[in-house]
Amino acid sequence: MDASSMILADLNQEQAQAVVADGGPVVVFAGPGSGKTTVLTRRVLYLLAQGVPADQLMIVTFTRDAANEMKARLLQISPKQIHQIWIGTFHALFLKMLRTAGIMVPTLASGFKQNEWIRQLLAQNELPNDDEQVAMFMNQIGLCKGNGILPEQLQVKKEKNRIFKKIYLGYEQLKQQHRYWDFDDILMATYHLLDDKKVRIYWQERFQHILVDEFQDINQIQYDILLRLSQHDQQLFVVGDDDQSIYGFRGSHPRFMLQLEQDFNSVSKVVLETNYRSTDEIIAVSDRLITKNKHRAQKRRAGTGIQGAPIKWLSPQDEEEEAIQMIEQLRDGMHTGILYRTSTQARALVDACIRKEIPFSIAEGDRIFYTRFQVQDILAYLRLSMNGNDLDALAQIVNKPKRYLYQSDWLDACWRMARKQQVSLIEVLPQLPGLESYQKKHMKTLQEQLLRIPLMCAEEAVAYICEEIGYFRYLESFAQRTGNDVATLKEPIEELLLAARHHQDGQALLAHIEHVKKVIQNQPHDPVVHLMTFHKAKGLEFDRVFLMGLHAMVLPHRRSLNVAEHRKNEAWEEERRLLYVGMTRAKTELYLSVSQMRQGKKIGPSPFLKEIGYQEASPSVMKQQVMKPTRTTPNRTQSQPHLKFIDEVVDPEMKLHHFKFGEGLVLKVMPMEGVAPGRKVMIRFTHGVTELHYE
Ligand code: ATP
Ligand code: MG
Repeated sequence: MDASSMILADLNQEQAQAVVADGGPVVVFAGPGSGKTTVLTRRVLYLLAQGVPADQLMIVTFTRDAANEMKARLLQISPKQIHQIWIGTFHALFLKMLRTAGIMVPTLASGFKQNEWIRQLLAQNELPNDDEQVAMFMNQIGLCKGNGILPEQLQVKKEKNRIFKKIYLGYEQLKQQHRYWDFDDILMATYHLLDDKKVRIYWQERFQHILVDEFQDINQIQYDILLRLSQHDQQLFVVGDDDQSIYGFRGSHPRFMLQLEQDFNSVSKVVLETNYRSTDEIIAVSDRLITKNKHRAQKRRAGTGIQGAPIKWLSPQDEEEEAIQMIEQLRDGMHTGILYRTSTQARALVDACIRKEIPFSIAEGDRIFYTRFQVQDILAYLRLSMNGNDLDALAQIVNKPKRYLYQSDWLDACWRMARKQQVSLIEVLPQLPGLESYQKKHMKTLQEQLLRIPLMCAEEAVAYICEEIGYFRYLESFAQRTGNDVATLKEPIEELLLAARHHQDGQALLAHIEHVKKVIQNQPHDPVVHLMTFHKAKGLEFDRVFLMGLHAMVLPHRRSLNVAEHRKNEAWEEERRLLYVGMTRAKTELYLSVSQMRQGKKIGPSPFLKEIGYQEASPSVMKQQVMKPTRTTPNRTQSQPHLKFIDEVVDPEMKLHHFKFGEGLVLKVMPMEGVAPGRKVMIRFTHGVTELHYE
């Protein structure tokens, strides 16, 4: 077999057709698990085998991780030329182009630096500046820049937008002042680099082939650059799935897949219909969900005939029980992903994994909940109550709620006075010189309150800070000022209250949080379970997937619905796609979990769940479904000393006894590859998952 045939050997006809397609742009339009990324990788190998020089290929992936993954895949098969291929994210590749073109690119601001600038600007404007808020402003700025909108061009009327414009302007100024660029500046500069026709032709000739994965998440400026790069006779090859477009909030849009047909004379469209990743059950249920979206292209989708277990519902009492139920299933060592809508939701799970010493990884950038500004403020109260000399903590909370202490030098005065009298900061608070009587009164009350906290248990202390001391009052006024939703702002605190239940007092809670941070900094390379948001899971696959915390107001997330009326439907559909992306990561087992209570309150399931047949049942019924597979055949399996399946029915969910491995549960029944007779059966035994072959 020659190299090209080998590259195509195990692909289906449509996949092979896409790999070898010639003449004009190619759009591979297909659902999850249909081999889009596989086809793109194979096409690279095919082109290399056809003699296309490696440095004439540009491959665009959506994340750096995806680029590394693809490099690794290519390296295994064709190690010699790989390092010459231009492969990476849009940003990395365009940066390389600018540098190659001799453009002096200023230092790139690290994500950390950008965040610090935003944090600084937010603080100057007396706005909360935790990771979540900073990320929100960064996204919003990215959205503007991705559409080429500069801050000066923003027309604002609402207070919320006025604040945004101010921060955006401030951010651009800080960046210029320090002579830095951000990623979006790279896009803009690349676009303008190609203004010059000669330069454009140079780059068009340079890249004979441009291949783009996850094309549905491209934004306007990226599309415009691609268009400018592809006007010559070289080939553009893009793969994507409109149903998996989940970055609309940053300006990406699947319409660009269709736009290609208008911008080029002849576009070959390849549709892949077979999902190789998932069992029929998983495909059926995810299809049922996504077909509820109105704005989508219809596709036919089929599985490979692999049957698996029906999807399973978990209906635990609360988030603590949810974590335990999921963790219990991890013992078999099956490759597992646990996905959630927002990073706050991982709190109980992370705490439980740490308590049970389960090695886990949590996606980089999925900020842990303990860094949220509300949590940080409460922790500052706790720290100050434990250590009356914690000046930073005092500065952080003194005006939350308002205590009208805005003079810039009062902190210094406080520190000096405490040192002089050799007492703690807390003790001198009411005696500070120059305070008005109402300010003194506030300081006296604060002092009394801080002295009370150490006498309480952790949960009581957190509740006391919020309700009696008035931290909730601060959040409410903040919500009003900035147009934020107050319930969303309070959410992290509800979560902290739950975490506090596991700890004796404030001190123990603080120690636990320090420990969590350390564990997360030292993640294992080969964890049992991967924790991440739905967004981070795009493009990945796991044998087993848990989608947890599928509550109303979480999915669709209330914040995502906080948009103009005419955009509500769009936002709603994007949230449905997000759930779809999550479901379609699973190969063999899919668990959907929604607890009866969330943060101490009874809360219903996501409206999307009804669309896929979820019926609220009493907890006992739901639990039975989980613990006891629905299609067991206990009599036969229990009496069977050996596995002997000749002519026998083997179904997923069947329990059996293996002479060597003991009790097992059938996960999946697959045909053998090629013409080999028999079946492959994937079975979960107590030692782990094993694949056995039967005639
Ligand atoms: P997503 O939309 O989630 O990114 P995708 O379309 O990129 O999915 P891949 O990740 O390329 O799909 O493939 C999904 C799984 O199917 C992978 O495990 C891949 O190895 C396998 N696969 C793809 N094509 C075939 C094939 N022809 N035969 C057998 N397995 C295949
Ligand atoms: Mg893919």
